[in-house]
Amino acid sequence: MLKIKEYVKAESLEQAYELNQKRTNCILGGMLWLKMSNRNVQKAIDLSGLGLDQIEETEDEFRIGCMTTLRELECHEALNEWSDGAVKDAVSDIVGVQFRNLATIGGSIFGRYGFSDVLTVFLAMDSYVELHKGGIIPLHEFAQMKRDNDILVRVIVKKDQKDFVYLSHRNSKTDFPVLTCAVSVDETEGWISVGARPQKAVRMSMTEEVRKKVEQGVCSEEEMKKEAEDISAQIKTDSNMRAGKEYRSHLAKVLIRRSLERLNAKGGDQ
Ligand SMILES: Cc1cc2nc3c(=O)[nH]c(=O)nc-3n(C[C@H](O)[C@H](O)[C@H](O)COP(=O)(O)OP(=O)(O)OC[C@H]3O[C@@H](n4cnc5c(N)ncnc54)[C@H](O)[C@@H]3O)c2cc1C
Repeated sequence: MLKIKEYVKAESLEQAYELNQKRTNCILGGMLWLKMSNRNVQKAIDLSGLGLDQIEETEDEFRIGCMTTLRELECHEALNEWSDGAVKDAVSDIVGVQFRNLATIGGSIFGRYGFSDVLTVFLAMDSYVELHKGGIIPLHEFAQMKRDNDILVRVIVKKDQKDFVYLSHRNSKTDFPVLTCAVSVDETEGWISVGARPQKAVRMSMTEEVRKKVEQGVCSEEEMKKEAEDISAQIKTDSNMRAGKEYRSHLAKVLIRRSLERLNAKGGDQ
């Protein structure tokens, strides 16, 4: 059971950061993962009074405050129009609406959970985390970093023009995913991120030839199949109670191929 001795509504990020340096204190997101833990917390630090529950859009980027809920991500028109609905597709199977009204992007990304749909979809984008002390770093680097006592202030997504697809496989609706897959493509990059392996998501680059062809919508079925086989062969999977290693590797191949086919079908549209 989670036990909290004292609740502090932070008045500034600096105050929250200082308090969070003590090992027995803890930042609160939506508290959905936290409440499942067996932990004695001295001071629970609430960031909800710092105006970090907004998605700001500029000409070049989306700036998503850490207290933004998964439901806000799901319903944000501009973010979903730009990402071809990939953000909505990534979060809409997470438990239920009431749950997504509480779970935050900060808790989801800071946790770097193996099963995370949220980490998978943002890894396939040109995205960054802004840490209170650590500054702005690429999400794919942050995903590999060890957990520390910094505060994730916001997630920044650069609006480089890309096409996106998000696919996942679940044994039953709203369960944790068995495998997650997000693919993006544009004039310079083609990224494939695969998560719930069951380890946390990793990002791979498409081969240049396939990226170019998919972007133009002229890639053959054989080429996409081969690309999916080659990329999935490099992605380590394991077994857990939801699925075996071999099944996950097979799923990775299938979801990557299907994503490439969808992007290829859209290719050359713009
Ligand atoms: C039953 C259940 C099912 C789930 N299913 C899925 C699923 O299918 N797919 C999926 O992607 N996710 C799933 N999740 C995870 C969920 O979507 C959230 O990612 C998770 O609950 C964490 O978000 P939160 O806002 O609740 O964070 P909290 O539980 O409040 O915090 C999580 C951790 O992050 C720290 N933290 C929170 N915010 C910050 C911050 N801004 N800076 C620094 N540290 C911070 C906290 O101290 C804590 O250690 C599931 C969770 C549960 C409980």
